Amino acid sequence: MSTLEHTLPGHPHMTRAAPKDPTTPLRHSRQRESIRQFLATTREHPTADLVYQHMKVEFPNISLATVYRNLNLLTDIGEAIRITPPDSADRFDGNTMPHNHFYCTRCKCILDLDLDMEEIEPLYQAASANFDGIIESSNTFFFGLCGNCVKTASELV
Ligand SMILES: [Zn+2]
Ligand SMILES: [Zn+2]
Repeated sequence: MSTLEHTLPGHPHMTRAAPKDPTTPLRHSRQRESIRQFLATTREHPTADLVYQHMKVEFPNISLATVYRNLNLLTDIGEAIRITPPDSADRFDGNTMPHNHFYCTRCKCILDLDLDMEEIEPLYQAASANFDGIIESSNTFFFGLCGNCVKTASELV
């Protein structure tokens, strides 16, 4: 371990002190970082509850309230996006690049749509035409049945 540390050029201080107290802010930032990483790697657009279920594996004592607090914080600092579907719990998305979502009205899944944002441009112009304010961004939600639900629906017929 220490030989590895010494071979890292330019990083003479790679050694980190272990947290003394499990309730120190360091632990809290570790939880937040873990939540951030989970959101960055999943494409599921999980609910807070699902994030909580996932975090419990790494942090058995974490509470749902802590997960909520961290999700709100990540949303506030722009590291996550909150998506509010019309008829189910809020979802969280680690992909903060502008993109559009599809919402399946049957299984309630949320999927990213691979849609060129330039295709949305005419929509901005159309929306601006009859509006005296300034439109800066949009968040278009598409509704319908996802591929899986289409498949199961056709199998039932
Ligand atoms: Zn579906
Ligand atoms: Zn997304």
